[in-house]
Amino acid sequence: MTLTPKPYPSGLVWLRRDLRAHDHAALTQALRQCQRVWCAFVFDTDILQPLLDRGLRADRRVEFIHESLIDLDEQLRALGRSNGTEGVGLLVRHGRASEEIPRLATQLGVQAVYANLDHEPAALARDAQVRGALAHAGVLLHMGKDQVVREHHEVLNQGGRPFTVFTPYKKAWLQTLSPSDLQPHPVERYADALAPCPPALSAGVPTLEAIGFVPSNLRELKIRTGSRGALALLEDFLARIEHYGQARDYPALKGPSYLSVHLRFGTLSIRQVARLAHELHQQGVAGASTWLSELIWREFYQQILAHFPHVVERAFKPAYDRIRWEHGKAAQAHFAAWCAGQTGYPLVDAAMHQLNQTGYMHNRLRMVAASFLCKDLGLDWRWGERYFAEHLIDFDLASNNGGWQWCASSGCDAQPYFRIFNPVLQSEKFDPQGKFIRRYLPQLARLPEPRLHAPWRAPAAELEAAGVALGRNYPSPLVDHFEARQLTLERYAVVRAES
Ligand code: FAD
Repeated sequence: MTLTPKPYPSGLVWLRRDLRAHDHAALTQALRQCQRVWCAFVFDTDILQPLLDRGLRADRRVEFIHESLIDLDEQLRALGRSNGTEGVGLLVRHGRASEEIPRLATQLGVQAVYANLDHEPAALARDAQVRGALAHAGVLLHMGKDQVVREHHEVLNQGGRPFTVFTPYKKAWLQTLSPSDLQPHPVERYADALAPCPPALSAGVPTLEAIGFVPSNLRELKIRTGSRGALALLEDFLARIEHYGQARDYPALKGPSYLSVHLRFGTLSIRQVARLAHELHQQGVAGASTWLSELIWREFYQQILAHFPHVVERAFKPAYDRIRWEHGKAAQAHFAAWCAGQTGYPLVDAAMHQLNQTGYMHNRLRMVAASFLCKDLGLDWRWGERYFAEHLIDFDLASNNGGWQWCASSGCDAQPYFRIFNPVLQSEKFDPQGKFIRRYLPQLARLPEPRLHAPWRAPAAELEAAGVALGRNYPSPLVDHFEARQLTLERYAVVRAES
C-alpha cells in the first residue's frame, strides 16, 4: 500500500520483453503512480507477419511467448485475488503494436502508458511511433530500466565515452554498481491497484492458431516456459553453479544455465539473476564469478548496440567492411551445407543440428560454427548472423551481433583476425569422447574417438566397420582447413594495417 498520492487515476502497462509479474520496473512504477492499472501484450503483426509470409507457422519463440503469457495471465489473476479483486488479467491484442496500444489506451481512458526500455533499432522506431500517437491523445509514455542492470549511459569511461573493451567495462560496471541497481521492484507491495479487465475488452490469451501459428516441438523438447519455468531452471542451475567454470565449455555436459531464453523474454528478472551471481561471487562460490562475467558480457553488447547502432548493418571496425567475402553459386552451396549441418566437420555439423532441432546452441559451439563460416568458408558473417537470428530461441540482436562480430574479428574487443579456430582441435578438446557429436550425428556413433573428430582421416576399413560411407551417409569435408586458413589470412590482409 502506498501512502503518497497517486498522480494518475489510471495507467496501462505494455509488456514486451518482460513477461513476468514480479520484480518488474514498469509494472511497479505504474502501480505506484496510478489508482487503477491494466496490463497488455500485443502479438505484433509487424514482427509476426513476415514469419507467416515465409511459411514459418511453427516458431518456437512465438510458442514460448504464448505459453509464457498464459503463465503471466495466471500470475496477474492470482495477484488480483490476493488483494480481493476478481477479474484481473492480461489484455492481449493481435495487430500492429503502434496502433493497438494507443487504441487500448483510449478505450481504457488511461492517462499514462508504462513500458520498459528496449534499445534495438526496430523497437526504438516502434516506441517513437507509439509515443507520438499517445501524445496526440494526451497520454504520456513512461519508460523504465528493466532489460539490463546498467543502462548504456550509466557505465562510461573517464572521458564520458562508451567502453569498447570488455575488461575495463566490467571493472567499471562492478566498481560503480550500487545496491539500488540490484534491488527488486516489488510488484506485490502495490498490487492492490491492479484493476479488473472491463468485460467489453476481451481479456485472456488467444490460442496459437488464432494468431496464425501452430505448435513447434517446444513441448517435446521440454523447454520450460514462463516465470515458473525460469525459476525452476534457475534453482537447478544454482545447485551446480560451483562447477560452471569448468563445465561450461563442454557441450556434452550440463554446464551452463540455459537461462538465455528467459533473459530474452524477461520471464526472469536480470536484477534477480545478477543479484544472486553478485552475492555468490562475493561469498567466493566457485563458478559465480565466471557466471557474473557472462551476464556482464550481455550488458557489454547491449551498450555497444545502443551506442553504435551501425553494427546492425556493418562491421564495428569500418576497415573490416573492405573484406571481400566469397559469393556466387559455390558460396551459396557452402552456406546451404553449413545451415544443414553438412560441412563434413563433425563438431560444426553436430552444432548446427543442435540449433536446427532445438533452437539452442551451446556457447562454445556458437563460436566454432561462426568461426567456421567466416574463416573456413570465407562467407560474410552477416549470413550466419541472420541464420542464427532466425533459428535461436534466445535470439537477441545485441548478443548475436556481438558474438558474430567477435568471431569474424570485426567487432570491438574481438578475436584477432589471425586467430583461427581449428575445428578438429576444438572437437578433440571440447568433446573429447565425442559424446556430443554422437548425440547429433548418430551415423558416426560407431567411429572410435580419434576418428570421430575427422572421419576423412580414418582408413577405409575403419569407416566401413563403423558403417560410415563418406559422401553417402556423411559428407566429405567441404574445404581443407589448412588451405582455408591461408585464404582467410590473405582475405583479411586488407585490414592488417588497422588491426
Ligand atoms: P550461460 O553460460 O548460463 O550464461 C548466462 C547468461 O549470460 C546467458 O543466458 C546470457 O544472457 C549471458 N551470456 C553468456 N555468454 C554471453 C556472451 N558471450 N555474450 C552475451 N551474453 C552472454 N546469446 C544470446 O542470449 N542470444 C543470442 O542471440 C546469442 N547469439 C550468439 C551468437 C554467437 C556467434 C556467439 C558466439 C554467442 C551468442 N550468444 C547469444 C552468447 C551465448 O552463446 C549465449 O548467451 C549462451 O550460450 C546462452 O546459454 P546459457 O543461458 O546457458 O548461458
